[in-house]
Parts: sequence; structure tokens; C-alpha cells
Amino acid sequence: MRLFDEKKIVRFLLLFAGVFFAVFIPELVQSMENVFMVIPYVMAVGFLFFVAITYRFPIVGNKKKMRNDVEIVPPPTTSFQSRDLQKDLLERDELFQMMVDVSANGFWTFDVVSGKVYWSQKALKLLMAESAADDSFEVFKTRVAESDWIHFRESLQKSLETGESFSLKVGLLNASSKEQCLQISGNVQQNDEGRPIRVIGALNEVVDKFAAEKQNYYYVYRDALTGVYNRKFFLEKLKVDVDVAHQRPDYLFAVALLDIDSFGAINTSYSINVGDNVLRVVSDRIKSQCRSNDSIARIGPDVFAIILHGIQNGDSDSDVMPIVRRIHNAVKMPIQIDGRELYISVSMSVALNRDVDCVEDILANATASLREMKKGVNHGGIQFFSGGIREKAMKLYKLEFEIRKAIQAQEFVLMYQPIIDITADNRIAGFEALVRWNQSERGVISPAEFIPIAEETGLIIPMGALILRMACLQAKQWVDMGYKDIQVAVNFSAKQFALDNMVDDVKRVLLETHLNPRNLKLEITEYTAMCEAEKTIEIMRALSSMGLQISIDDFGTGYSSLSYLKRYPIHTLKMDKSFIDHMTEDEEDAAFARMVIGIAKSLNLDLIAEGVENADQLAFLKAEGCRLIQGFYFSKPLNPDDALGYLQEHYEPVKASV
Ligand code: C2E
Ligand code: MG
Ligand code: MG
Repeated sequence: MRLFDEKKIVRFLLLFAGVFFAVFIPELVQSMENVFMVIPYVMAVGFLFFVAITYRFPIVGNKKKMRNDVEIVPPPTTSFQSRDLQKDLLERDELFQMMVDVSANGFWTFDVVSGKVYWSQKALKLLMAESAADDSFEVFKTRVAESDWIHFRESLQKSLETGESFSLKVGLLNASSKEQCLQISGNVQQNDEGRPIRVIGALNEVVDKFAAEKQNYYYVYRDALTGVYNRKFFLEKLKVDVDVAHQRPDYLFAVALLDIDSFGAINTSYSINVGDNVLRVVSDRIKSQCRSNDSIARIGPDVFAIILHGIQNGDSDSDVMPIVRRIHNAVKMPIQIDGRELYISVSMSVALNRDVDCVEDILANATASLREMKKGVNHGGIQFFSGGIREKAMKLYKLEFEIRKAIQAQEFVLMYQPIIDITADNRIAGFEALVRWNQSERGVISPAEFIPIAEETGLIIPMGALILRMACLQAKQWVDMGYKDIQVAVNFSAKQFALDNMVDDVKRVLLETHLNPRNLKLEITEYTAMCEAEKTIEIMRALSSMGLQISIDDFGTGYSSLSYLKRYPIHTLKMDKSFIDHMTEDEEDAAFARMVIGIAKSLNLDLIAEGVENADQLAFLKAEGCRLIQGFYFSKPLNPDDALGYLQEHYEPVKASV
């Protein structure tokens, strides 16, 4: 509270002066000869009173000065206006807080007098702190490198002394974000006397443009698993070489494709992790054998591509072959993973840029060679592209087109090969349905010729649906004729089996054809069964719960692990013909056949010996306790009429069925 109010004192003095001079007015009037001479004196006294009463003093105490020296006077206060002003201030506070919150920058303030530090939410986020433990620099100090903290403290101190702003980079101390860098800056706010009252600062993430670009480049052009180029970049590189070859006809380069054989089986037999490790080892080995300027890419799940740029003389044997052979030999070496030794087989194809016009051509040549090799005896070897391969590829494309037409024209028919129970007077236990293509020009075509193409192109799906329906209709016809126990086995390809709605599709066909599920059996190859084992088990369980039986076809050619086999709800193993062929003369094959019979017995599964052609083979199998036989010895696949004839002769309704 103030003792003296200067304004009141001045006003009082003025009044006092007014009264003092007014006292002399009567005396003056009397002493003056001319009364009018007193008028100026009276006016002056009146003016004194007027000033003393009415003068409004300037409000010096409420005058505010901002840092930029702009004077502001608060508006006159009425109760209504003062409510608005408060609201206004609150809104401004909220607005400021919102601006701080939405800003991409972090903010901080340091109050010099109280020593308190405020960190905005964004600043705390950048410092990877949930909230500041106290109003201090502690949160910052504990999260940056010690040297950075010292640097910051010095900069802040200097800034407080000089009033200059500062800005510096600090590294965040966090194991997972070692490379994260922050930029902290500060501006000092001073009072009228030039003393620092607070520091207001910003905190930002530093984006290292170079590092970011490098990272971006890596993701766009590299395969994340192996670090070699990805397919996209491989095609770009290839295009450059094709363009160079257009300009310089003597420029030669080669494309080598490397495919890991049966890679799916590695994933399913071991684990995806092991599969990933194999891919990494393979890519490292390719890198170690290539020349430094060659481009290596992973262009498919288990396919690597190498561009051998600038071949000297273009002679594949003397120039390209040594490199390719070196890669092939290195990649094939046993791989040590988790203390285990893993053997892999790889197929490589090579195409040179002679006679190609575009990227697609050279890739198509290399792919055609690879495809051809993987099907044939050279599987696991090296093959150079030759014109003939491309012709064959063209033939394949033609075949694909014809298969499409044949599905529409219903040119596919089923033959039925009997399966005989040799322990029950050679009664027929069932049939295997085998597809044939009855083509108007070429006659009957074997499935070996078109099933692989149908599988590759996905045409097996409509074709398979057609086959299932035909087989079910035929089986139903035989059941209705009185052969109630007859069972028809239908082959299912991997693609068909992997279809999401596969179980529902089978159910629907059974319903539509009114066939009891016990008269149907599905055959899937050992390889199909091992792909995506867990999903396969699930599908098998669903089929099995419908009353359907499942056979594992071509058993012995895949990679079944016995532990999986035990978990599969299957009923039958079909021993592959390749073991039957030589079991009577080859001791190894005989031992293998005995082993398969033993596995089936120990797992309590039926076993069908497939491809039995002669009495010796039959005698061997009989002696080893094999009950069910399929093969030319008993019958070739028969058309439906002949199959019915066979059925009439060999059917006996018995309890046990296939
Ligand atoms: P698979 O399922 O293992 O069928 C057995 C094959 O062995 C049949 O050949 C059959 O005719 C043949 N075979 C049976 N016994 C003997 C014998 O004693 N000697 C000889 N040399 N061969 C015998 P096919 O009909 O040519 O079928 C070949 C393969 O084509 C089948 O092998 C199967 O994998 C596939 N296939 C056949 N029909 C279909 C089908 O409808 N759908 C699917 N997805 N694949 C089918
Ligand atoms: Mg079969
Ligand atoms: Mg088979």
C-alpha cells in the first residue's frame, strides 16, 4: 500500500493555490479604480480551480512495455469487458498449448528466476520419455551423450550471458536408435534492463538426408533378406545392358539363373528360419564367386539371377562357363546350420544376349532353359540356352492354349485302374481314376504330357474340378449297381489341395452327385503333403471327418519325416513304382521296399504297391506281407465299360476296403 498519492497531492496544492489567490479578490476589487481590471485575476484563479478539479492525470503506472518497445494501454475496464478479457486470455493459453501440441517441433522453456524447465509433449516424445520426472533438464541430461550434455550446458550458459541464441546437434543415448540425432536450439528473453528472464527453445529430429536417401535406396533396390539386388533393380540393370548391346553390336553379356531345387521341402522339413539361412548362405556364395562388376539379384523366392556384364569373346564355354561352374560348385557345398549339415541341389541356366532384342527375350530364354532342365535328367546341373529350348517353350505355350480349349470342349476322360487285394482271392478293392486327353487331332494324350503344364498354369484347378465330378458320378453309378464297397481314388495336385475352399468344394461335389464319402479317396503326392504341413494336416482332418480317406501317392520320393506322417490323418501309403521296378534284382531297392512296408505296418496304414508288372515282383511283395497291388500285372487303366466288366468279375462285398 502506498503512503502518498502524488496525484491527490498535486490536486490539493492546486486547490490550495486557487483558494489562496481567491482570498485576495475582494481586497483587489476595493483597491482597484476600475473593477474590470480584476477580471483577468479572477479568471486565472477560476482556471486554477478548474484544473484542480477536472484535470485527468496520465496513467503512468499501468503502462506496459513489450520487448519490442511497443506501448500498450489496457482497455477501460467494465465488469462485462473484464469477463471477456479473462476468457480471451484463457483461449489464448489453450490456443498456444494446441499450437505447441500440433507442431512437428518439440518446445522447451527455462525460467531463469525459478530455474524451472518445461518440456512439451513432442519434446518428451523425441527424448523418448513418457513424461518429465521433474521441471528440470534431468530428462535431457539422462538421454543424451555426456559430451553433448556438457556442450549444451556451455551453450546455454553463454547464451544467458550474451543474449545470443544457440543451436546444436546432440545424439540420443538409446541402443536401438544409435543413429538418431536431435537438434536443440534456444533464444534468450530479456527484461528491460537486459537481464535474461527465460530461454525459449525448440527440439527437432535431425533427418540425415544422405543416410535417409541411402536407406531409401536400399529398400527400393535391395532384397531385404539377402542384401543382393531385388527383381525390380535386376530388370533395370538388364535393360541397361540390352540398350548398350543395341548401340554396340559387339557387346556381349549373359544372364544366369540359379534355382534351389526342392526349396519348399527345406522350409517344411526344417523351418522357415533354416530356409532363410540357406538363402543367405547361397547369396553369399554367389557373391564370393562372381566378378566384382557382376550384378546379383534374388528374383524369386528361391531363384537368383546374375548378369555377367561385358563378356570378352562371348564364347560360353571358354568365358562364361568357368564362372557359372564356379558358382554352381560353391553353392552346392554342404551348408552348416545349427550344427547340422544340409545338402542342397541347385539348377542353373545361362542365356547369352545373342539374338535377343529385349529384356523379356533374354529372361524368357534363361527361364525356358531352367524349366526344361528341372523337368529332365539334367535337374541339378547347368544348362545353356539353345534355340531348340525356345521352340519347346513355344510348344508349351501352345499346349497351354489347347488345354484351355479342351476343358471347355470336355475332351478329358477318365480311365480306371483296378487295385487288387491279393490276400482275398484277388478281389477288387477299388480303382484309381487316371485322366486322359482325348484330342481330336493327336488321339489319346498321357497325363505326363499335360498335367505338369496344367499345374504350372493353374489350369489344373478347373480341370481337377471336372475330374472329381466325373469320378464321383462314375463311382455313384457303380454303387447304385450294387458294388457298394467300391472305392474310387482321385489324384489331387498341390495347387488344388492348397485352395482355400477345397474342403467345401469336395463336400459340394459329393452332395451334388449323391456319393457317400466312403466311396471316395483322395490321392496327394508325398511332396504335396509336406508343403505347408500344418495347413495340410488341417485340411486332411476336415476331409477325414467327412468320412473320406486319403492316400499318400509316390511314397518314398519325397521328404516325409516320420513324425509328420504320424500326425497326418491318412489311411494309405502308395509305394512308388520306381522302387518296385528293381526290387527283385537290386538289394537296395528291396531293402527300401521292405522298409516302406514296415513303416505302413507300424503306423497301421494300408500300403498299395504301385506299378507291379510281373509275377516276381508280386511274389516278393506277397512274401513281405503287402496286401494291395496296382499294376499292369493285373490290369492297365480301363475305360469305364471295361472297368465295369472287371468289377463284375472281381467284386466281392467284404468288410475291409482300400
Ligand atoms: P500316379 O498317380 O502315380 O498314377 C500311377 C501311374 O502309374 C499311372 O500313370 C498308371 O497308368 C501308371 N501305372 C500303373 N501301373 C503301372 C505298371 O505296372 N507299369 C507302368 N509302366 N505304369 C503303371 P498315368 O495314368 O500315366 O498317370 C501318371 C501320373 O499323372 C499319375 O501318377 C498322376 O500323378 C498324374 N495323374 C493322372 N491322372 C491324374 C488326375 O486325374 N489328376 C491329377 N492331378 N494327376 C493325375
Ligand atoms: Mg495316383
Ligand atoms: Mg503314384
